[in-house]
Amino acid sequence: MASTLPAATGFLAAVQCDGGRSPGAFPAPRGADPAAPGAVFASAGPRAVIKARPGGPGLDAVLLHSGAPDAAHAHRRGRTVLLAGELYNRDELLTLLGAQAGPVTDADLLLALVDTYDLHAFRLLNGRFAAVVADGGRVLLATDHAGSVPLYVSAVPGTVLAATEAKALRTAPVGRRITAARRVRRLPGTHQVPAGTVLEIGVATADCTDHRTWAPTPARRIMAEQEATEAVRLALDRAVRARTGPDTPLVVLSGGIDSSSVAALTAHHRTGPVDTVSMGTDLADEFPQARVVAEHLGSAHRELTVHTDDLLRRLPHAVWAAESLDPDIIEYLLPLTALYLRLEGPGRRILTGYGADIPLGGMHRENRLPALDTALAHDMATFDGLNEMTPVLSGIAGHWSTHPFWDREVLDLLVSLESGLKRRHGRDKWVLRAAMTDLLPHETVTRPKLGVHEGSGTTSSFSRLLTDAGVPGDRVHRAKELVVQHLFDRVVVDGRHPDEVATADVVQLVADALEHDALPAHP
Ligand code: AMP
Ligand code: MG
Repeated sequence: MASTLPAATGFLAAVQCDGGRSPGAFPAPRGADPAAPGAVFASAGPRAVIKARPGGPGLDAVLLHSGAPDAAHAHRRGRTVLLAGELYNRDELLTLLGAQAGPVTDADLLLALVDTYDLHAFRLLNGRFAAVVADGGRVLLATDHAGSVPLYVSAVPGTVLAATEAKALRTAPVGRRITAARRVRRLPGTHQVPAGTVLEIGVATADCTDHRTWAPTPARRIMAEQEATEAVRLALDRAVRARTGPDTPLVVLSGGIDSSSVAALTAHHRTGPVDTVSMGTDLADEFPQARVVAEHLGSAHRELTVHTDDLLRRLPHAVWAAESLDPDIIEYLLPLTALYLRLEGPGRRILTGYGADIPLGGMHRENRLPALDTALAHDMATFDGLNEMTPVLSGIAGHWSTHPFWDREVLDLLVSLESGLKRRHGRDKWVLRAAMTDLLPHETVTRPKLGVHEGSGTTSSFSRLLTDAGVPGDRVHRAKELVVQHLFDRVVVDGRHPDEVATADVVQLVADALEHDALPAHP
């Protein structure tokens, strides 16, 4: 039976000249068994070692898999494909390959497409993935359009290392500067592959060329109300269906329009009930709003309360999983990290409403349109590298999360709609609300936006932690930034486990440092 999770959710791969050496060439922590470099991923799950010697440079990899590691790689005629994640437009892609027997796995499918289109295959994919293609003397490293599965690289002449978590490369030899990619803080020579990009690297020379495979469209489309709402409904419906696996899906539900839309469309296509779960804290929750939706849809619904102290203790885990240095992003991801860690049992496929506000300008709270377009253009130009969508967040608890609003087709459509369809009749995200009226209660369709960091009290409890430690009110944001940097240095750069890192110690360190710091509040 098909697994509900992708075949692989992460990897560490090495492509080397001279036919490949032993996996001892992996940047395993000193003293660790090189065949099983255990502690390098935050994502949980079994690991499998694979070795491919198809003629060119050898590829060794450790795959983080869900029971069938062979489904995550494919080989033919000296070419090897390694895929973490999944594709959502398989049927479309299969039509390109003609009448021949259809490839079975996503890795097979990608290999067949690379045979035909070479690196331009990646322009065709709608998915949530990171991929490595070892092909003769070169390596292709590819992200999906949104870079939603982070991918890191460190390359020196003769060896290219790639991993879905930066910490897996922390003991790598210092790599060459790759100008097309972003450097990773305090990991010299380690870079993050940009969103929607293929890096083409010569193994012998470590020379790199970048190829963009996706960019957010700068143009805006004009559509009649009904045409726009129908298009949004259809695109989102497809995206949800493509993400619904063979088992009962789980939707993380706040009761806001975004996650409620995903839950409603998931339920719409299933005969049995779907599962929904809401988290709250002792300070704040959105339980009543989520319950309205759960009752309307007849979902099997759970409410999980995380105590604020426990929530804040998970800050190191959120940074460990997301490998993000942005304090605002960490604040959004912290309550979800705490929620995922509370979901016990076998790995679940989790659908979220994450990210809808970016293309729809949902955080925008005034009626004038130019500011909405400006904010949207800014957000679409700056999301890359924040790792907001990373699957590692749920991966640390053995789950796989996926975000229908950042499906390539949904995103392309939403970004491109003229802003008057987003802010209309005095409502934010109007086009989505109008598209969902028949499937959701009226109060859900008209409910104003509340961010997860607000609805769970995370922003205020994190601020309070800092002010209690002596940080002045006007330095709180700067202090959050420093706390996140310190945590990153410990759990990513130094490779410590987040259970060994106490939030309170780091907060005190930052508070003390700020007391003697001459920097302005907003450097
Ligand atoms: P938001 O910041 O409200 O846009 O949240 C992003 C996504 O996280 C939502 O679409 C939900 O899927 C999920 N989420 C937000 N708040 C909660 C909550 N209290 N409980 C469960 N899931 C949530
Ligand atoms: Mg919300």
